[in-house]
Amino acid sequence: MAKNRTFTMIKPCAVKNGHIGAILAKINEAGFRIVAMRMTRLSKSQAEAFYGVHKERPFFNDLVGFMSSGPVVAAILEKENAVEDYRKLIGATNPENAEEGTIRKLYAESMQNNAVHGSDSDENAALEGRFFFPANECFSVEGKEELV
Ligand code: GDP
Repeated sequence: MAKNRTFTMIKPCAVKNGHIGAILAKINEAGFRIVAMRMTRLSKSQAEAFYGVHKERPFFNDLVGFMSSGPVVAAILEKENAVEDYRKLIGATNPENAEEGTIRKLYAESMQNNAVHGSDSDENAALEGRFFFPANECFSVEGKEELV
């Protein structure tokens, strides 16, 4: 299977609860390489843009408030079958339904405060990665800058 990329964010709840290191360790142990990474805080309008696909959902305002409430760690991850394998590693959206050992089972507080984001398709992974990182801040495994 071809090596490809996914995008993740460690959400404000997990940053606040001190889980950055543990979550990054799970990501590395599962065979993902970090291609780009930054700690930042989303403005309300950035959070609205990032979650634009959900703007008609009843929880949209709460989600935007939560995602802009504190810092996040954004990262692009590389692995064979990255999108699907990362969704398996993070577990179900609702942590009550997440499998044992998944990141959300271990670190989520609730359906909304569910510790991490993970892209749901290759197309969204590319869009979401570009939302945070210019091409010259993405590095291949060899450490070379990549033109993407
Ligand atoms: P994901 O792909 O597993 O992150 O799930 P979705 O794309 O369906 O939802 C995006 C994010 O919205 C989730 O990760 C949660 O943080 C949040 N969310 C989803 N469903 C609900 C809900 O019913 N209530 C609230 N408050 N937040 C939700």
